[in-house]
Amino acid sequence: MAHEPSITFLGATRNVTGSRFLVHADTAKVLVDCGLYQERDFAARNWEPFPVEPASIDAVLLTHAHLDHCGYLPRLVRDGFQGPIYCTPPTAEIAQIVLEDSARIQMEDARAAVDLFEPVPYGEMIKLGRQVSASFHDAGHILGSALIRLVIGRGSEARTVLFSGDLGREATPLLRNPHLHDAADYVVIESTYGDRTHPPRPEVAGEMARVINQTAERGGSVLIPSFAIERAQDLLFELKNLVEQRLIPPLKFFVDSPMATDVTRVFEGHAELLDPALSQMLAEGDSPFRFPGLTFVRTSDDSKAINHMPGTVVVIAGAGMCNGGRIKHHLANRISDPRSTVLFVGYQAKGTLGRTIVDGATNVRILGQDHEIHARVEIIQSLSAHADRVGLAGWLDALKHPPRKVFVVHGDESIVLDFAEHFRTDRELDAEAPQYGQQVTLT
Ligand code: ZN
Repeated sequence: MAHEPSITFLGATRNVTGSRFLVHADTAKVLVDCGLYQERDFAARNWEPFPVEPASIDAVLLTHAHLDHCGYLPRLVRDGFQGPIYCTPPTAEIAQIVLEDSARIQMEDARAAVDLFEPVPYGEMIKLGRQVSASFHDAGHILGSALIRLVIGRGSEARTVLFSGDLGREATPLLRNPHLHDAADYVVIESTYGDRTHPPRPEVAGEMARVINQTAERGGSVLIPSFAIERAQDLLFELKNLVEQRLIPPLKFFVDSPMATDVTRVFEGHAELLDPALSQMLAEGDSPFRFPGLTFVRTSDDSKAINHMPGTVVVIAGAGMCNGGRIKHHLANRISDPRSTVLFVGYQAKGTLGRTIVDGATNVRILGQDHEIHARVEIIQSLSAHADRVGLAGWLDALKHPPRKVFVVHGDESIVLDFAEHFRTDRELDAEAPQYGQQVTLT
C-alpha cells in the first residue's frame, strides 16, 4: 500500500449534525456521508471550502437521506466532485425529495447531485478501487437507512470499518431491526441518545387515543407537528389502527405536507424493506398509511381550507419543530383555542418555536403576529427513530471480539465524551471522541 489507511473526521464529531467521514486507503478516497450542519453553532462550516478538494474524492457513500447526512452533496458536486454516490434505492428516492425541498440548496445543484446516485441493494458488495470495498446493511432508522461496512486491504491484512450511521430501535412497527455485525476492526458509532433510555413504545397508541378523544370531546382540533420522513408514516400507521379498532371516533385527518405525501409513496413502493407485517398488508393491497377520513394535502389553498373546517380535525404537518412549513399557519389559527391541542411527537431543539411552546410559553409570535397560547400542549416521547443508550451498546455487544478502536460521533459534546468514557471504563473498549478535522491511522 502507498500509505497506511486513515479516517478523517470532518463533521458530527462533538456535535450531532454535518456527518462526513473521509476514508483514505491506497489511492482511493471515499467519503462516508456528506451532511449539512444544522446546529446554529456550527452552521458556518457549511460555507467554508470543503476541507478536502472535492474533485479528489473518488466516491461518496450515504448512510441515509436525512439532510444532516446528505445535504452538503449539492455543494460538493458544484465544487468539483464527479464520482458516484452510492446508497440504497430508497435513500436515492428520499434524498432527491429532501434535497429538492431544502430551501438552502439551489435546485440545479440538487439535480446535479441526484444524477450521480447509484442505488445499491442491502448486502451487495461494491468495489471502490483496488483495495476498498463496501456494503450496506439495514440500520432500522428510517426507510433505506444503512450501516456501512468498509473492507480495506485483502486477506490477513484486511481491516473492516463499520459505520453505524444513525442507528434505529428494535421492534418498531414500520422497519426491520438494525442489522447486527459480529466482527469489525474499527467502529464509528452515533450517540444522539447515548445519555437516555426511551420509554417503551406500546404506550404510544394509548396516549394518542387519549389526546384525540379528549380533544374531540371538547370540540377542538389536534395539531401534530411532524417530520415528513418516517415520523409522519409512523403516526399514520398508529392512527389507522386506532380508527380501525374504533378507539377514536371517525374524524377528518390531514397530512398537510407535499413532502410527507411523496415520502409515504416511497414507503408504499418498498414493501420488501418494511416490517414483515406491513409487507404482508401491502401485498394484500392495503396500505398501512391510508384509512377512511384521511386526506393528503398538496396545494396551499387546500391547506388553508382546513382552517375553516367545522368539527374536530387532526392535522399532521411540518416542520417537526415548527420552525417553518405549514404547521405555522395551523398554529396561528388554533393555538389560542382552549379546546384544541398541539401534540408534540418529536425532539424540539433549542431556539425553535416548538421548543418555546413545549417549555410553557404563554404567548408566541407566529408569522409576524402575537398569539396567546390557550390550546393544550401534549408530548409523546416514545417515537424516537434513534436507538437509546441500551440499544447502542447492545448493537456494539454483537461484536464477538472487541474492535481495535471505537469512535463515538454524532452527539452533543457532553454525550459523546460521556459515552466514550462509558465504553472505556464499563466495557474495557478502546474508545475515543474524535475532534473536528482529526485524522486517525487505521493500523
Ligand atoms: Zn438520521
